[in-house]
Amino acid sequence: MKVASYYRKLENSIVRCELCPHFCQLKEDETGKCHVRQNRGGVLYTLNYGCVSSMNLDPLEKKPLYHFFPGKTVFSIGTYGCNLKCRFCQNCKISQVGVPAEELLNEFTSRQLVMMAAAKKDSVGLAFTYNEPSVWFEFVEEVAELSHASGLRNILVTNGFINPGPLQRLTEVIDAFSVDLKAFGEDFYRTQTQSALSPVLKSLEIIRNSGRHLEIVNLVIPGLNDDELQFEMMCEWIAQNLGKNSVFHISGYFPTYKAEEPATPPELLQRFHLIASNYLDFVYIGNSSRFANNTCCPACGNILVSRRMYNVDIHGTDENGSCNQCGLPVFQNF
Ligand code: SF4
Ligand code: SF4
Repeated sequence: MKVASYYRKLENSIVRCELCPHFCQLKEDETGKCHVRQNRGGVLYTLNYGCVSSMNLDPLEKKPLYHFFPGKTVFSIGTYGCNLKCRFCQNCKISQVGVPAEELLNEFTSRQLVMMAAAKKDSVGLAFTYNEPSVWFEFVEEVAELSHASGLRNILVTNGFINPGPLQRLTEVIDAFSVDLKAFGEDFYRTQTQSALSPVLKSLEIIRNSGRHLEIVNLVIPGLNDDELQFEMMCEWIAQNLGKNSVFHISGYFPTYKAEEPATPPELLQRFHLIASNYLDFVYIGNSSRFANNTCCPACGNILVSRRMYNVDIHGTDENGSCNQCGLPVFQNF
C-alpha cells in the first residue's frame, strides 16, 4: 500500500482522485470505482501497490503487438482492479475485484520483478497487462523506471481511460502501448463499460504525439458495436488523427462474464478487415486461427512477416526492419 500520486484533498476529509476521468470523490474509508484506491483518514492510498495477481512469459503477438520486436516474448504481469466495467471482460476475476485480503501482505518489490524479467531468454522486457495497469500507476512507474535503467523495454496494455497528466508521465517510461478502442460511440462506452469514449481518443492522440509505439485493438461484438458506418468512421478517425500507418487489430469476441451475445462470425471480421484496409496500411484479425495475419509492405506488397496466431516467420525484411525489396522502413523496433 502506498499514498496515491494524483489526488486532491477537499473539505471534511473527502479526497478527489485525479488519476482517471471518473474523478471519484471519496469519503473516509470509501474505495473508488476501480476497487483499488481508498480514502484512509483523508489520504488517498493505492491498495494494489506491489501486488501481483498473474505473471507469464507471453509472445508479443499476444498483447497484441505485431510491429514491436515481432517474434519475441515479454515477461507479463498484472494486478487487481480496473476503472471500467466491461460486460465482456475476459479477466473479470482480477479486474472486477479489489486485492484479496490474503494478498495484501504478499508484495513484490520492483527490483524482484525487474530481475525476473531480465532473466527471461529472448524477452524484450516487461508488460503491464491482464487487468487495467493504469490503476496500478505508482507501481508501474517505479518498476518501469528500474526496468529502463536495466536496459529493458516496457509495454502497457490499456483501456486508455486515464487523465492526460498521468498518461504523459507514463509515456516517459513506457515504450509501447496496446490500447483498446472498444467502439466509436459514447453510447457503447456508457452502457457496456460504464465509462466514456472521448478520454480514450484523447489518450490515443497523446500517445501518438509522444512518439512511443502504439497499436490499437477493436473487439467486435455482434449486435453491440458491429455497425458498419460507425466502424468506418472509427477507421477514418484513426487514419486522420493517428496516421494511415497505424497498426490496427480487429478482434473476435467470445461470450464471457456478463455478455451473452454470440461469438463474432469470421465473415464479420473479414468484412471489417476490408473496410479498415481502405483507410489503414496495417490491419490484422486477432483471436482467430482461421486467418493468416501477414505484414505486407504497403509500397510494393512484399510479404515481410508471415503470421498465424503466435507463429511468426520474418523473411521479407533487412536487419533494420525495412522491406528487402523496395527499402521502405516498416518496423521501427526490430
Ligand atoms: S483511478 Fe479509481 S479511484 Fe481514481 S478516479 Fe479512477 S476509478 Fe476513481
Ligand atoms: S477495461 Fe479491460 S480489464 Fe477492464 S473491465 Fe474492460 S475488458 Fe476488463
